[in-house]
Amino acid sequence: MSKPIPIITRVKDTSRLSENMQSVILESERLKQFPAVQPGAYIKLIFEASGVPFTSSSHQDTPRMMRTYTIRKLDKNKGQLQIDMVLHAHNGVSGPAATWAAKAKLGDEIAIAGPGSVKQVDTKADWVLLAGDTTALPAIESHLESIPKDTKGYAFISVGSENDIRALVKPKDIDVIWVDQNSGGLASRISGASFPDSTPSIWAAAEFSQMREMRALFAERFSVSRNELYLSSYWKFGRSDEQHKVDKRNDAMQLQQM
Ligand SMILES: Cc1cc2nc3c(=O)[nH]c(=O)nc-3n(C[C@H](O)[C@H](O)[C@H](O)COP(=O)(O)OP(=O)(O)OC[C@H]3O[C@@H](n4cnc5c(N)ncnc54)[C@H](O)[C@@H]3O)c2cc1C
Repeated sequence: MSKPIPIITRVKDTSRLSENMQSVILESERLKQFPAVQPGAYIKLIFEASGVPFTSSSHQDTPRMMRTYTIRKLDKNKGQLQIDMVLHAHNGVSGPAATWAAKAKLGDEIAIAGPGSVKQVDTKADWVLLAGDTTALPAIESHLESIPKDTKGYAFISVGSENDIRALVKPKDIDVIWVDQNSGGLASRISGASFPDSTPSIWAAAEFSQMREMRALFAERFSVSRNELYLSSYWKFGRSDEQHKVDKRNDAMQLQQM
C-alpha cells in the first residue's frame, strides 16, 4: 500500500457477531469516494503509538501504528464499511485493535487508510480450496458470497469456540468444514480429507505457524503453481503485528533461499 492518507471515520454501529467476533460499521463522507474493492480487500486501522486510536484530535506528527482488517462490506452510497474483528486476549494481554473493538461506541472516531487488495480465488480451476482461521473468516465469507454459484470445492475454517460457527451464504457445492482450533489445526484437518485428483485454486490465510504448516502440506499434496495459490500469515501467536511483519519478512527470505 502506498503512503496512506488517513480518512477519519466514526463508528456508525457495533454489534457482537459471535462469541469472539465484533462487527463494526465505520462511516465517513470520504468513503463515498472510496475505490471499488474485491473480496478480501483490506483497510488499515490507525492508532497512535500509545495504542489509542488516531482521531481528528491527534497531532499529525504523532507516531502511528496500523492494524489490518478485511473490508467485509462496503456501501459507497452511504459512505460506510463493515469490518469483523476477532476479540482476542491471552492471559489478559490483547492488542490495540482488539481492545478498541471491544470498547468502541457509536460516534467514536478512528482513522483508516487503504484499501489494499489480495489475490482472488481462480474460479476457472476445477475446484477451490479455501482455508483460514477466524481472522480470515471475513475474507472467506466475502469470497463465498461472490464466486459463481456453480463453483465446487471446500472451505475449512478454524474457530476457537463452537459459538463462532455461523451459517454462511455459499455455493451449494462448496462444503464448509468447521475445525476446532484446539484440536490439531487446519493443516492436519485438511491433510485427512479426500479431494478430487485435479488441481484446485487455493486461498488460505491464518496464524503464522498454521500458514507454514499449510504451505508444507499444499506443496506435498497439490501441485499448484503460484498463480493458483494465495497463502498468507495474518497474525502470529505471542507477537505484536510489528514483530509479526519482521518474522514474515524473514520467512519470505528463507523461502527464497531454499
Ligand atoms: C490482509 C489481512 C487481513 C486481516 N483481516 C482481519 C479481519 O478481518 N479480522 C480480524 O480479526 N483480523 C484480521 N487480520 C488480523 C489482524 O490484523 C491481527 O490479528 C492483528 O495483529 C490484531 O491486532 P491487535 O492490535 O489486536 O493485536 P497485536 O498488537 O498485533 O498483538 C498483540 C498480541 O495479540 C496476539 N494476537 C493478535 N491477533 C490475534 C488473534 N486473532 N487471535 C489471538 N491472538 C492474537 C498477538 O499474538 C500478540 O501476542 C488481518 C490481517 C491481514 C494481514
